[in-house]
Amino acid sequence: MEITGQHFIGNKVSGDGIETFSAVNPVNNKTLPGVFFNATTQEIDTATTKSVAAYQILKTKNKEDIAAFLEQIAEEIMALGDTLITRCNEETALPEARLIGERGRTVGQLRLFAALVREGSWVDATIDTAEPNRAPVPKSDLRQMLRPIGPIAVFGASNFPLAFSVAGGDTASALAASCPVIVKGHPAHPGTTELVARAILKAVKTCNMPEGTFSLVQGNTTKVGETLVKHLAIKAVAFTGSFKGGKALFDLANSRKEPIPVFAEMGSTNPVFILPKALKERGDSIAAGLVSSINLGVGQFCTNPGMVIIPKDKGIASFCDQVADKISQSPSATMLTPGIANAYKSTVDILRNSVGAEILSSGKNDDAPNNVASTVFKVSGTELLNNNQLEQEVFGPCSVLVEAETKEQVLEIARNLEGHLTATVHGTPEDFETFAELFQILEQKAGRLIINGFPTGVEVCHAMTHGGPYPSTTAPQTTSVGTKAIKRFVRPVCYQGFPDSLLPESLKDSNTHNIWRLVNGTFTKEHINR
Ligand code: NAP
Repeated sequence: MEITGQHFIGNKVSGDGIETFSAVNPVNNKTLPGVFFNATTQEIDTATTKSVAAYQILKTKNKEDIAAFLEQIAEEIMALGDTLITRCNEETALPEARLIGERGRTVGQLRLFAALVREGSWVDATIDTAEPNRAPVPKSDLRQMLRPIGPIAVFGASNFPLAFSVAGGDTASALAASCPVIVKGHPAHPGTTELVARAILKAVKTCNMPEGTFSLVQGNTTKVGETLVKHLAIKAVAFTGSFKGGKALFDLANSRKEPIPVFAEMGSTNPVFILPKALKERGDSIAAGLVSSINLGVGQFCTNPGMVIIPKDKGIASFCDQVADKISQSPSATMLTPGIANAYKSTVDILRNSVGAEILSSGKNDDAPNNVASTVFKVSGTELLNNNQLEQEVFGPCSVLVEAETKEQVLEIARNLEGHLTATVHGTPEDFETFAELFQILEQKAGRLIINGFPTGVEVCHAMTHGGPYPSTTAPQTTSVGTKAIKRFVRPVCYQGFPDSLLPESLKDSNTHNIWRLVNGTFTKEHINR
């Protein structure tokens, strides 16, 4: 399948720009086929105009139409077959097996959202029936449900070229909410982006969705993303990437005449606490699991365990030796882009040279372009408390082992943490009793708390929270993974005194959708007799 490098402005292909860029294979720094245009302001304006028109139609579509559309996108992605996997592998250096798994996750989450929409109760239909005889004033009939907010700008992430990109969780949840989507493709995998965009547009046509339901604009300059976020037709932004990029878009969105929410997931260091009894009983297996988690996907996960806190104990030396040994045997591996590989190397250098952190062990290295070595630092609890740079994310296979002086210092470190996506504790029942306060603190610091596991591996399901307090995200009350991600793109609308004929289907007396509704304070599927 030929890569054309053009955008999809609604259903029309377009390439009006004069600035171009190409994809680079990070394994050898060679340019891959396809010349991509930076989207022009006019193209972005046309895409948003079409999305506004599409929104008026999409929000009237019934739940079966939306569910079938999401399932059709999944079908079309699978139909791309090896072409998608091969191009994605060339653009990212991620192994084909990983990409096949990620494709499964991508179509799985589209189907999960389809099931959610088809069931229908996610709209939180809430009904308080009228009390016309209430004294001193009668009470009106009040009904509330979640309604789509409008066109959404989605920024594809570099590290999940399928599951957090064009048809990833942000797009799936926005479309599930009946919001049109305009994707700003990530410049690290523009060919993959184009292929997946074509699959979505095929589904748009097959399912008779309005033009403007989906558009793709590509670009390798911040101007493309900025123009999109500034466009007044855009009602929310979903982003996964760096703190710098997410915060810039958050500030831009807040400086608009009409500020809009930015759901930016910007990563974190994901502290792991290893408590004394667990260290003694199973330090070996924890060391092995930790190193696997650090190295997974060349550390290019926002849930990478970047900081490990262990209270002083005679078992620490042996634990550190095991981690050091496994890290020293870790092969060097290729990162996603030259920029990401260089950022990794220079951040490791800063920790070593400017912050003065001691390197406990480094992995194997070679001269292949964009290959990096795993690195583990070791610092004291006091050094960590005195230098918050040690808590900053190093995007890649790097972690900082922290030896805390006392239990009190462990708790102080926990209290000093910024917001993180996850926090993990390894312990025994006795440890959990001794460190009970730790859980009270960590609950305030992270979106997902893990016991005796590792933070990498984010399940796509109903109960997942992939989010956390700032600076891990700009919207701590939400998640970007799992079905609750849909709540980012809706808002509650209350209908007071409406006749049945004017109400949305989910709020009508008959409850033909057969959904769970909160009626006068009780969850029920019963219809209402007025
Ligand atoms: P990024 O630089 O944040 O870029 C992500 C997307 O946002 C790209 O499409 C980029 O477009 C756009 N963007 C960034 N800054 C922008 C701005 N000021 N205005 C408008 N658009 C902007 O992320 P990346 O390229 O994937 O990787 C860079 C670093 O991000 C990594 O080294 C790593 O530290 C971090 N990262 C974190 C995660 C995570 O899971 N939290 C994932 C990936 C990367 P342009 O490139 O066209 O400007």
